Amino acid sequence: MNVEEFRKYGKEVIDYICQYGSNIEERDVAPTLDPGYLKKLLPADAPQSPESFKDVLEDFEQKIMPGVVHWNHPKFFAYFPSGNSFPSVLGDMLSSAIGSIGFSWASCPAAAELETIVMNWYAKALGLPKAFISDAPGSTGGGALQGSASECVLVSLITARARAINELKGHTSVHDSVFLPNLIAYASREAHSSVEKATKMALVKLRIIDADERGRMRVDLLQQAIQNDANAGLTPFFVVATVGTTGGCAFDDISEIGKVCRQVSSIWLHVDGAYAGNSFILPEMRVFSAGLEYADSFNTNPNKLLLTNFDASALWVRDVMVLKSALNVNPLYLRHEHINGVDYRHYGIPLSRRFRALKLWFVFRTYGVKGLQEYIRNHMVLAKKFEMLVRKDERFEVRNDVHLGLVCFRMRTGDEPNHLLLAQINHSGKMHMTPAKFNGRYVIRFCVTYEHATEKDILDAWNQIKGFAEEILRDVQLEISSAPATPETERTSSEPTGPVSGKPPIKKKLTRTKSLRFSFTRSISREQFQSQSEHLMDGCTPILVVDPKTIQQNFQQAAEDNQNNNTKLKDISDVDTDEASN
Ligand code: PLP
Repeated sequence: MNVEEFRKYGKEVIDYICQYGSNIEERDVAPTLDPGYLKKLLPADAPQSPESFKDVLEDFEQKIMPGVVHWNHPKFFAYFPSGNSFPSVLGDMLSSAIGSIGFSWASCPAAAELETIVMNWYAKALGLPKAFISDAPGSTGGGALQGSASECVLVSLITARARAINELKGHTSVHDSVFLPNLIAYASREAHSSVEKATKMALVKLRIIDADERGRMRVDLLQQAIQNDANAGLTPFFVVATVGTTGGCAFDDISEIGKVCRQVSSIWLHVDGAYAGNSFILPEMRVFSAGLEYADSFNTNPNKLLLTNFDASALWVRDVMVLKSALNVNPLYLRHEHINGVDYRHYGIPLSRRFRALKLWFVFRTYGVKGLQEYIRNHMVLAKKFEMLVRKDERFEVRNDVHLGLVCFRMRTGDEPNHLLLAQINHSGKMHMTPAKFNGRYVIRFCVTYEHATEKDILDAWNQIKGFAEEILRDVQLEISSAPATPETERTSSEPTGPVSGKPPIKKKLTRTKSLRFSFTRSISREQFQSQSEHLMDGCTPILVVDPKTIQQNFQQAAEDNQNNNTKLKDISDVDTDEASN
């Protein structure tokens, strides 16, 4: 494609995007298709000869768009927002056009320097502790943009693992992998499944801590578990607290968790605020960021709640040197003479990095902190509105504390009518929502996501939800009245009573196609949490790339060293809590 063709088609694509955004409501929010739909429409092999761009665009509209879920549709209430905005799309276009791969300062000085500046703007806008801000006096910390929150969690865990192993091995030559079976991480059962994935990848144990009825990690159980594990000779090394859990947007008490973590020197506290961390841009939400001063690392995704398109996930660490030393490799072909320039390749997994800071810079400049605050406040007001509508209807209940944009609601029936309600909502194509289990109950997650969401969007959605619910409840009532009477004393259901109580058989069974149409937003370890009484996952099978004799020697040496090292790991029961919290 030459520059004139690019200009022509570029303008067409921009026009298409504008048209798409303006008329999006005319489209169904999600398609009703079965897997494999596209295979039937596209050839099995790539074309041998060039095709016209016009044909490609036509196929895009006719074949690709019908299979798209419209995350920026006013009736998209699923997952969390995808954080799109026009300024960020334009910033990303420029980043793609420039195409610089900014892994080191030398490979693209502007990318490296803008990332540092924007990460500091962002940290200051969120009111993060100075320790995370690289240009704050005396700070050893800083931030970097990663591809996803999952990556942030993994990078933090790997850094924590390196720090713990270094502490354990001291000056010995014991192979690092020898210590893997000892390392144990902790997260609440409501934490995101990316924590479970990270521990699997890092070959370390994960202990799952129960949550309270509001979905917050039980700090008493965390403290107990750490103590028990330390007493059993394990090394607690990583705790993940979540601000804004996926299932119910619950906020763990970081202050209390932080105080517990402070008592054990080997523990790294990571705070995952993938969605809700962005809300700290509002002073009134900072009640939930209290305690971040205890954290070693913190992540939040501007691509969820800060109007920045995927991918962009911000990670800050208190000590950049620890992060860099955990991930540092330095082959000759990547070295350069500008030692004062930041090399972001040491801050994450990939070598090559997109110029992501550009889109975030565009967003900050075009909205300003005030514009971003207004956007989030609007989501909060609308979520509260929806919550009020649900609470006013005695057939429904709200199960979570609504602090931000997420409302978890359900009909006061058994789970099955709620499954059916969600299936009908999504099957209609007019709205899109996802389910979750919150505090042991099946709930429908209603998340305000659209940038320009209005009260009308919320009212329309509620009226449609009620319409589907009425149909389902009518069927349920019919089932109840036509079923043989069951004496009250024989009822075994533990479901709460309401206008429709007990667990009547549902006439409308979900068809396969329907049931495929909603996905499940899963927090950590739900299956494991239910299936394992111990709540312990052992992803730990150390990889040893040494011969068996060396392994034997390593283990002997480790046993001796461990005896000496045991004194290093403070027994948390001996620590004065007041002193630790100072
Ligand atoms: N952490 C939390 C709390 C989340 O809600 C999510 C996803 O919704 C993630 C982590 C994973 O995010 P990502 O898709 O950026 O890896």
